[in-house]
Order: sequence, then structure tokens, then C-alpha cells
Amino acid sequence: MSPKYHSLQAVQEAIAARQTNCSILVEHYLGNIAASGHLNAWVEVFSEEAIARARELDEKYRTDPAAVGKLFGLVVSIKDVICYEGHRISAASKMLGGFESLYSATVVERLLAEDAIIIGRVNCDEFAMGSTTENSAHGPTLNAADPERVPGGSSGGSAVAVQTDTCLISIGSDTGGSVRQPAAFCGVMGFKPTYGRISRHGLIAYASSFDQIGILGRSPEDIARVLSVVAGPDEYDATALPHPPPVFSFSSQWEGKPDPRKIAFIEETLTHPGLDPAIRQITEDYLKGLEELGHQLVPVHFDYLDFLIPAYYVLTTAEASTNLSRYDGVRYGHRSEQAGNVEEVFKLSRTEGFGREVKRRIMLGTFVLSAGFYDAYYAKAQKARRLIAQRVEEILNDCDLLAMPATPETAPKLGELSSDPVKMYLSDIYTVLANLCGLPAIAFPIGTHPEGLPVGIQLMAGKGKDAALLEAVEDLRK
Ligand code: GLN
Repeated sequence: MSPKYHSLQAVQEAIAARQTNCSILVEHYLGNIAASGHLNAWVEVFSEEAIARARELDEKYRTDPAAVGKLFGLVVSIKDVICYEGHRISAASKMLGGFESLYSATVVERLLAEDAIIIGRVNCDEFAMGSTTENSAHGPTLNAADPERVPGGSSGGSAVAVQTDTCLISIGSDTGGSVRQPAAFCGVMGFKPTYGRISRHGLIAYASSFDQIGILGRSPEDIARVLSVVAGPDEYDATALPHPPPVFSFSSQWEGKPDPRKIAFIEETLTHPGLDPAIRQITEDYLKGLEELGHQLVPVHFDYLDFLIPAYYVLTTAEASTNLSRYDGVRYGHRSEQAGNVEEVFKLSRTEGFGREVKRRIMLGTFVLSAGFYDAYYAKAQKARRLIAQRVEEILNDCDLLAMPATPETAPKLGELSSDPVKMYLSDIYTVLANLCGLPAIAFPIGTHPEGLPVGIQLMAGKGKDAALLEAVEDLRK
């Protein structure tokens, strides 16, 4: 679907030219939300609140155009795992049915402080665990490119919200690809910053040493503008990087010839048997095109490809099993009505509240952390994580970027992946690397599969090089 406005800059210029205002924009997006209701991307739309806020912001602008914030005119959705004070949040789980946030996530506060409008919360997999947005207490979200197919996950609602022009930006979360994979499946752009770049305060935890808030949108400039507002140190998150938000200079702003980049690609990622041949072809053609533009391609080897998924799932399920222990029927959300004693409160509340996939991960995580198996699984996976990160660091010490497919296949039909958890886990092969290493990564569209579905590519950069990565995408995207 072609959007009314392709970028925040276009929105702000239209407002300055009096062609639109925040109220008209909100009406436009609300209209599109209603028209795309069958895709089930939205869990809750804050219609009245968004209309009232738009009116206030229009008034603020009318009084003094210079007084408005950097994100004036930006209409945003948030994934249903990000706290917004006084608003419900469910993590797409029955476990948090009816729960209301007592405070706002740092990212929400910073968006609002710069005059963004939050128009609603969008669907995802339960506790952000999944790759299809089918594991949701609110039912599956469908892909607008083909409603028989999933939008990817876990931030599937975010990707569809951008895809269908129901907001310009969506804030998601990415533990192992949840922002990039749905972006690739839906033909939009999904960015996961360096670990710690955006505070995780107010993000419902899945696997804390992997989790990062991510941004879905249509252009690297928009993502950069949002990142420069929401990034930066935060006293509520000790893992937030101490550096100020990155500063950007896009080549479109200085109209120069783009710098040639040195781009590594791991040969094993392209020859992997799980990779769809048409995606391989599109990726190779795209990379060849970059070479013709004067960029340097550097083939590299990486021996650990087959260890990525095992390391990721051992470590994330371990962290998930401890993070989710807080949902005990006492402190938050669902409490079983059948329970006759304390132990039953814990047991029955969790049995009734959590879905299958979440239970599977809690059990896996508890197993790999158990006394008899800790060394064989958890400690081993930690070592694998270190070796993997060292090798990628070596590659990125020598090259500016690391390119690889975003996904091995295009968006599957509903039920295809969710009915086979191992197949679902394996499909994360290209995205988990960035989270294992804490690196910034982005997926963006580079073509259309012969079946008619979007195909994305993924670029990764060294730690902290978020600005360099987004600037590169501006130069390298089609
Ligand atoms: N699909 C991956 C998983 O299920 C990634 C999820 C995420 O990034 N939140 O763990």
C-alpha cells in the first residue's frame, strides 16, 4: 500500500505548507486502521486520546511554530510489550489480561516529550516469543501482502501497522530478530540498535541480555530521527550505554557521492541449504549491484553458523525462565479462581495464563539451568556466544558492514511454522547473530520474490555504529 507520507520530513513540510495538520493526520491513520481491521494488527487504538492530543499539538503549533518538538507530526504505534502509564498492556498473554501500566517506558516518555502522537498498541507473539505473531492471546495478525500468510514476529503487528500506513513509525522489540524478520516479511524497514542504545526500562523482559527496543518505519532518516530522541543513558536501566544519542549526517543532506563501503558477506549464509533459491538470487544480484556502484565486497568464512540457533535458544530460554518467574498469580495479572492454596495459586495461574510456546520455553530454560545440565548447556552456550562475538568482531574490524539475507524464506502461510517449533526456531538463523553479539542491524526490502512476496536484506555494523549503519542504508538501499 502506498503511504500518504513517506517520511516525517514530508509530514512536517506539509504541515508547514498548511496542507495538513496533526488532527487531519490522525484522522487519516484512524481511517486506515479501520480499513485494515481484518488484518488484526491492533490490540487497542487510543482514538479519542490521539484526536485530543493532535488538537492540542495543532494549537501549540498555531501559537508558536518554533515551540513544537522534534517529532511533531509523527504518529507512532507501540508493541504490546511496552509500558505506557494508565494504558493496558498484555504482552499478548492471558497472563496479563486487564493489567494496566503504572509507569511509562523511557522510550514512551521521550517520544511524548518531543510531541509524537501514540495512536495505539499493536499485536505480537506472547511475551515476544515467536516468529509469526500467531502465538497471541488476541489471535493472529495477517500479512497485508497476502492475508493467508503471517507477517512474521514477534513484532508482526508493528510491521503490518507500518505496511498498511496506519502509522509512520512503530516501536517494537528485538531479542532475536523480532523487528527485522517481520519488516522483511512485510516489505518495510526494521532496525535493532546496538545493545544498550535504547533503555529497556518499561519493556517487558523476555531475555534481558538480548532484548533491545527496535524501530520499524519506511526510511533510515525517520528511524534515525526517532533513535536520536529515544536513545541515550537512563538512570532506570544500568545496561543503557552512557553515550549521548548518535548524531547523523545523511548523504541526501549534502548531495555528495556516497562513500564506498567495505561490505563483508559470509559465504556460508548464501550457500546454506535452508535458503530459498530465489532469495539467494535476489541477494546476490543486489550485492553485485553494490559492487558495480563502487563498493567493495569481501567474502568471509564463519564456522559457527550451525551453532547460532542452539546458542540463542539455550541462552534466551534460560533468561526467559527466570524473567517469567515473576508471573506467579500474586503480583500481576491473571490469578486462577480454582486455587485452594498458595502452591495452587502459582501452579494454576501459570498453567491457565501462559500459552503453549511460553510454557515450552520456560521448561527448556529451567532444564538448561538445572544443576545436572547447567555446564553441558548453559555454560557451553555462553562460551559459544563469546566465540561467535569474537569472530564477528574480527570481521567488522576489517569491514564497515556485514550483509546477509534477513530470512531464509518469505512469509509462510498461517500454521506452517507455528505447528513445528523446531522449524520455527531454525528460521531465525540470520537474525539471532546480531543479538548474540549486541550489534546494530537493520532489514530493508530489496526485491520481490517470484511468488509476489517482499524480500529483505540485513546489514549489520560494529558495536555503537548505529549512525554509520543508518547512513549506509540511505546510500545502499534501492
Ligand atoms: N523468533 C525469535 C524467538 O522466538 C525472536 C523473537 C524476538 O526477537 N523477540 O525468540
